[in-house]
Amino acid sequence: MHPFQYTEPQTLAEAVALLTAAPPVDARIIAGGSDLLDEVKEGIIAPGRVVSLAGVPDLDGIAETDGGLSIGAMTTIADLAAHPVIRAGYTALAEAAGGLATPQIRNVGTLGGNLNQRPRCWYYRHPLTPCLKKGGDRCYALAGNTKYLCVTGGDRCYIVHPSDTAVALSVMEATIEVAGADGSRTLPIGDFFVGPGVDVTRETALEPGEVVTRINLPRPAALGAGGQPPGSVYLKAREREAGDFALVSVAARLGIADGVIQQAAVALGGVAPVPYRARAVEEYLQGRAISAVDAAHAGTLALPDARPMTDNGYKVVMANNLVKQAVARLTAG
Ligand SMILES: Cc1cc2nc3c(=O)[nH]c(=O)nc-3n(C[C@H](O)[C@H](O)[C@H](O)COP(=O)(O)OP(=O)(O)OC[C@H]3O[C@@H](n4cnc5c(N)ncnc54)[C@H](O)[C@@H]3O)c2cc1C
Ligand code: SF4
Repeated sequence: MHPFQYTEPQTLAEAVALLTAAPPVDARIIAGGSDLLDEVKEGIIAPGRVVSLAGVPDLDGIAETDGGLSIGAMTTIADLAAHPVIRAGYTALAEAAGGLATPQIRNVGTLGGNLNQRPRCWYYRHPLTPCLKKGGDRCYALAGNTKYLCVTGGDRCYIVHPSDTAVALSVMEATIEVAGADGSRTLPIGDFFVGPGVDVTRETALEPGEVVTRINLPRPAALGAGGQPPGSVYLKAREREAGDFALVSVAARLGIADGVIQQAAVALGGVAPVPYRARAVEEYLQGRAISAVDAAHAGTLALPDARPMTDNGYKVVMANNLVKQAVARLTAG
């Protein structure tokens, strides 16, 4: 393994300084290490410095705030899945967290690491293929096996976004707090992830030296006298029952009052380089009486702009079926 300097800052400011210190080296954040160390061991990256967030205070834990929930980036996936408030009020997030990877990875992996993990594209993960994402001059996947690539949103690079929690957070109006050398900023989750059309070498809007510190979730509001807080669900299709990434996943969240859908948010994973908002499904559901909802029809609206490749047309069928199931579940008596 390529040797690197390992650092354990005790403050956020120290962590940011270590990520940007001169002379410049390839400095990387490590949280649980379940993805970063794989990349180092597989020879995909060779950082000069690794900056642990383990000793930085206030990055861990889930706190109820006036506005909702604030989740520290170092909170483990297992803690997220088990938290009673998340299970009750943000069910899709608990289901996404509880069903990802393996118990061992959920125990060490963090929410910040899950959102910032790198893509699983075979060619990206192979040390001998210097593809566009690694600064090379071509995409090797297009001429290879396209089974796991995106069906929409590709632009020179055709990865799918790998994080289950990101898809669930996308239907919850989550915001991402980020700290860097110039202070802190907060991004809506839809602006946090960037596709290859913006920058083929990265998947988030993070600038060099920036750290995700917290993920905030607004409290689900009850919808008038005849309404309940929105209910949500996360469904995932994968090849193996455990320890496997989504072929396709869906997070759906519906707020229903007096038998009418007042709020609809639906997002898909496994189909695009970023979590994909299924706007056509949302438009169909918004304002519709649940007695008039045709879940199968909603499913057909999942991916109107899909352009499948030779080996991944199955993703469109899967997305249709998962959306149908999610809508049927949330609108059932
Ligand atoms: C066998 C296997 C199966 C898996 N299955 C799934 C699955 O089904 N679904 C799924 O979603 N994931 C899956 N994963 C991925 C796994 O969930 C991630 O590896 C894990 O969540 C990463 O968390 P970590 O804390 O270990 O991150 P690390 O490995 O420490 O970091 C991951 C990346 O995020 C960056 N990073 C970490 N924290 C921050 C931060 N606070 N701010 C900015 N950047 C940061 C690091 O620099 C690194 O690039 C799987 C992984 C394996 C090995
Ligand atoms: S899809 Fe993206 S990550 Fe995969 S080989 Fe092509 S450029 Fe590289």
